[in-house]
Amino acid sequence: MKTNKDWDILIVGSGLYGATCAHELTQKGYRCLVLEKRMNIGGNCYTENRDGINLHLFGAHIFHTSNQRIWDWITQFAKFNHYHHTVKVDFEGKRFSFPPNLETFNQLWGVKTPEDAKKKLEEVRFKGAIDDSLEDYALSNVGEEIYNIFIKGYTEKQWGQAPKTLPSSILKRIPVRLNYNDSYFSDIHQGIPIGGYTPIIEKLLKGSEVRMGVDYLSNREHFNSMAKKVLFTGAIDAFCDYQFGKLLYRSMHFKHYCHEIEDFQGLAVINYTSAAVPFTRIIEHKHFELGTQPVTWISEEYPEAHSASSEPMYPVRDTDNLAKLTQYQGHLSTDAYKDYYFGGRLAEYLYYDMHQAIGGALKKSEQIAKDLANS
Ligand code: UDP
Repeated sequence: MKTNKDWDILIVGSGLYGATCAHELTQKGYRCLVLEKRMNIGGNCYTENRDGINLHLFGAHIFHTSNQRIWDWITQFAKFNHYHHTVKVDFEGKRFSFPPNLETFNQLWGVKTPEDAKKKLEEVRFKGAIDDSLEDYALSNVGEEIYNIFIKGYTEKQWGQAPKTLPSSILKRIPVRLNYNDSYFSDIHQGIPIGGYTPIIEKLLKGSEVRMGVDYLSNREHFNSMAKKVLFTGAIDAFCDYQFGKLLYRSMHFKHYCHEIEDFQGLAVINYTSAAVPFTRIIEHKHFELGTQPVTWISEEYPEAHSASSEPMYPVRDTDNLAKLTQYQGHLSTDAYKDYYFGGRLAEYLYYDMHQAIGGALKKSEQIAKDLANS
């Protein structure tokens, strides 16, 4: 291993995963060069202040974890408020409590007790043979009516394919409760960093050199020659020049609007589950930080196919794509890539939440530090 390199590690991508590794390695005395293709740091966590409101420009990011180590780690970099995420569903003009809970069952069926809700669910759920698809998982747990109101249209819009072709793991993120708990997450800790996520990322990148608007893949030989090791957090299929075929990612675009009123919708997120509405959610950002500004900013989320002009956001982890992923992982585990590390939502093709990205990055940076110490 050569030692006359300018940098110990080149980190491709300044999202939460890359920035966490940059921080951990800088703390241990390693020199990190971070390359970011986009014009913003922090990937999709990036927030921007407009009219005193921190906008989650690339989708709502609510921090939640039951892992004390990760909570202690992230709260070193920001004070978190006590925001508690709850959501309403809008379907054909009617509003429902969501994720499904006793309030929802009362709105739908008039049932009032957990016992009656349980009986009703047992009555309506599909009891035949099922496969591991999202559709079958939904029908066998909550039945057709709930599936049609809350899941079918939203899922078709979000993923651009039939729920029968999607894995059940996507829907297993959403709880169904027989009590009045309408919390979107079940974790011990949750909240929003006061001041947004961008200041956290800035702190994590302190001590690293960060170059913006730089596409590593278009000049990789040059960049590789600058560092002892490379951590790549971008799309794994792009890194391998798509040699086993493209991995399917879903993307999203956002429309942001300012309204000259104090409160547009009364809470941070409303899901629009009907197929007839083109967006999936409206976010009203000020509610994340309990804002009292005289104006409000909202964002509509429009799912779309991933293309050359959009960012890959959600991995579509169905059987075909997981088979391709195995090929990519096999290829990258050879000796030719012994000085490379891969991690994050895109490189691991994982539906990571923020706390999971941090957990993965903390582990990876320990491994990188160990390898650097031995090199
Ligand atoms: N989902 C749904 N209806 C909703 C909300 C979610 O059918 O109102 C399904 C949908 O398939 C979605 C998945 O549950 O992709 C996971 O939802 P989550 O809110 O966790 O998605 P994310 O915030 O990661 O986009």
